[in-house]
Amino acid sequence: MSNELSWVPDGVNMELPSSARIYDYLLGGGHNFEMDRTLADRLLTVVPARDMARLNRAFLGRSTQFLVDQGIRQFLDLGSGVPTVGNVHEVAQAAAPDSRVVYVDIEPVAVAHSELLLQDNPNAAAIQADLRDPEAILNHPETKRLLDFSQPVALLLVGVLQFIPDDSDPWSVIQRYRDALPEGSYLAFSAFTWDGNREAMTKAVEVFKHTQEPIHPRTRADILRFAEGFELVEPGLVYTPNWRPETEAVHEEDVRHSNLFAAVGRKV
Ligand code: SAM
Repeated sequence: MSNELSWVPDGVNMELPSSARIYDYLLGGGHNFEMDRTLADRLLTVVPARDMARLNRAFLGRSTQFLVDQGIRQFLDLGSGVPTVGNVHEVAQAAAPDSRVVYVDIEPVAVAHSELLLQDNPNAAAIQADLRDPEAILNHPETKRLLDFSQPVALLLVGVLQFIPDDSDPWSVIQRYRDALPEGSYLAFSAFTWDGNREAMTKAVEVFKHTQEPIHPRTRADILRFAEGFELVEPGLVYTPNWRPETEAVHEEDVRHSNLFAAVGRKV
């Protein structure tokens, strides 16, 4: 543990595994603790969590590239995670160097390592906040410095909405962000679903009860409601590997293993 502690920022919950660090471990990153790895290993006995993470991360990359291709130069990435390969600012700034990105995460390790990565990047910043507090995030000085809400903005909620329970009403939280966005803005999102393998997902819910963020998988219909007020671009709401794949040959096993629905919509 002593080696690990050298990069641990203040305020980290050392009592329970966190989804940010579990995801980092599943993607092959090094910013996680033994308790996160143990939890992830348990998770792997009930769901193909590594495939789920890899396919979700790939959707994030393809959707970011798509948004840059639509002319989007501003990104508000909620639940951005521990930085790893293919971070939003890297994808966006490789294609359009003037792209600006605000990363938001609730977890201190994710934010501390994002800040470190971004220290020489004047066009991107990371803030620690709960995405359920849109006013705090939209009025944060870094958001105001980097994002111009008179121009289209992409709101990213990728791989995070399953951590927001129904009683926090994620649907109305999204609407509050939507109201702040000008026409021509976009929403990109993905979320855990029951619809692929209900039995396996029920077991995953049990495993996640021993983390800081229990999960709340949803039906396709409830996930589709996240996009209210946005017009989905083709192919609509689909399993992550089926969203505008780079090659036509999508592996059937990837689709079965993905367990997350994903979509991109344009504010109308
Ligand atoms: N968006 C990245 C991606 O798709 O590659 C990371 C997804 S990761 C599975 C989910 C992230 O959401 C974690 O870093 C977690 O800390 C964060 N998160 C969970 N609940 C949150 C909340 N209420 N507010 C902000 N971030 C949250």
